[in-house]
Amino acid sequence: MNVMPQNEPTFRESVDIMYNRAVALMDLPPGLEEKIRVCNATYTVRFGVRLRGKVETFTGYRSVHSEHMEPVKGGIRYALAVDQDEVEALAALMTYKCALVETPFGGSKGGLCVDPTKWEEHELEQITRRFAYELAKRDLINPSQNVPAPDMGTGEREMAWIADQYRRMNTTDINAAACVTGKPPHAGGIQGRVEATGRGVEYALREFFREPEDVKKAGLSGSLDGKRVIVQGLGNVGYHAAKFLSEEDGCKVIGIIERDGALLNEAGIDVETVRQWIMKHGGVSNYPDATHHADGNKVLEADCDILIPAALEGVINLQNAPRIKAPLIIEAANGPVTAGADDVLREKGTVIIPDLYANAGGVTVSYFEWVKNLSHIRFGRMQRRQEEARHELIVRELERLDDKMGDAWSMSPDFKRKYMRGADELELVRSGLDDTMRTAFQAMREKWHGRSDVNDLRTAGFITAIERVAKSYAAKGL
Ligand code: GLU
Repeated sequence: MNVMPQNEPTFRESVDIMYNRAVALMDLPPGLEEKIRVCNATYTVRFGVRLRGKVETFTGYRSVHSEHMEPVKGGIRYALAVDQDEVEALAALMTYKCALVETPFGGSKGGLCVDPTKWEEHELEQITRRFAYELAKRDLINPSQNVPAPDMGTGEREMAWIADQYRRMNTTDINAAACVTGKPPHAGGIQGRVEATGRGVEYALREFFREPEDVKKAGLSGSLDGKRVIVQGLGNVGYHAAKFLSEEDGCKVIGIIERDGALLNEAGIDVETVRQWIMKHGGVSNYPDATHHADGNKVLEADCDILIPAALEGVINLQNAPRIKAPLIIEAANGPVTAGADDVLREKGTVIIPDLYANAGGVTVSYFEWVKNLSHIRFGRMQRRQEEARHELIVRELERLDDKMGDAWSMSPDFKRKYMRGADELELVRSGLDDTMRTAFQAMREKWHGRSDVNDLRTAGFITAIERVAKSYAAKGL
């Protein structure tokens, strides 16, 4: 995507620069550094769909970065600016991300050059099904080889179409549901996947704030409670991260940056109300309870404790990095800080919780979904017995509610069962995600604190990830 500012490397090169910085501190066997760094293959497809009386041609990509583990995994993005450089950078990040949180996948990413707002739902379905067909017939969608997921511009709806398309093409594949993750729960998905990336950002910050020494490194003190947060992008990831942090951790969201400008209010902005406002009015303009700034990017430079870029790559670059005031940045988006900006910020002492860790909540819960699909058992069944006592309590509580509400509530036993099923699956997903985010942070922390040549979390994360990829190459051969 050509959002990278002039005089800076492309997104792909930027990821490689960060990778190289880590590799320089490692002792990899000769040649392996290059083998891990390069993208194995990128498939480009151009296909036509008859829409509104004419044939429209679309260009799509699926890049496979590393097959040290299979299937390979990563989202599919819908945006006009998608290009080969971008999908390759994102696929590389998926390899390192999966290795860091120990989901047993290689890295991949896909994209389609399309403006999803331009097309009606039934048209998008046609486009998606055709794209899925092109990828699936080349095994670039396949439960054991390549498993896509949502990314910018796609969500549950698109994943359900993709799953259905694959199923139609592979009617005897009993594992067809596992060909894609991020499906709606009623179509083989898992509870908690939609908010997983935002939830992961929250858990990442909680883990960071558990260690006073780390908090001090960022020039901050105390807990998350009362921290002033600016979030860029109130899409799926930014919205959930900001919502959870403000509703559950006592953070104060003082700034929200969107496409049509930014909102600032030192007293705090209610995330849910702004989200509703955006859905209704298409942007943040005229939102009544905050000051509106037409130049949203300027607000990236505003004073705050935690900055959460949750939109596009390259938004913090050589041009604005010297003016960024936030002492702590958590990369909810992929690649929001360019390699050049990363140098500037490190020099300034800014602590950056890097993308490969910070937004890994999505793929972590995707992994749970994939396992659930393959096992053909309801997720969490084994834990059921231990949970039984607690469920008894829930049932009793529901029955009490049933009595009290009478006809207005009229809860069927079936609903009761479903309610409980949802509840325990969600709980398992959350605790599994929390556990994963903690363990991965601790692995990074070990390098960050333990090695005198590692001064930042990104390098610590890359080294941890690359070591694991290298180990798996050593085990299975090239
Ligand atoms: N697109 C998400 C990411 O960048 C999720 C990938 C997945 O679940 O496979 O991490």
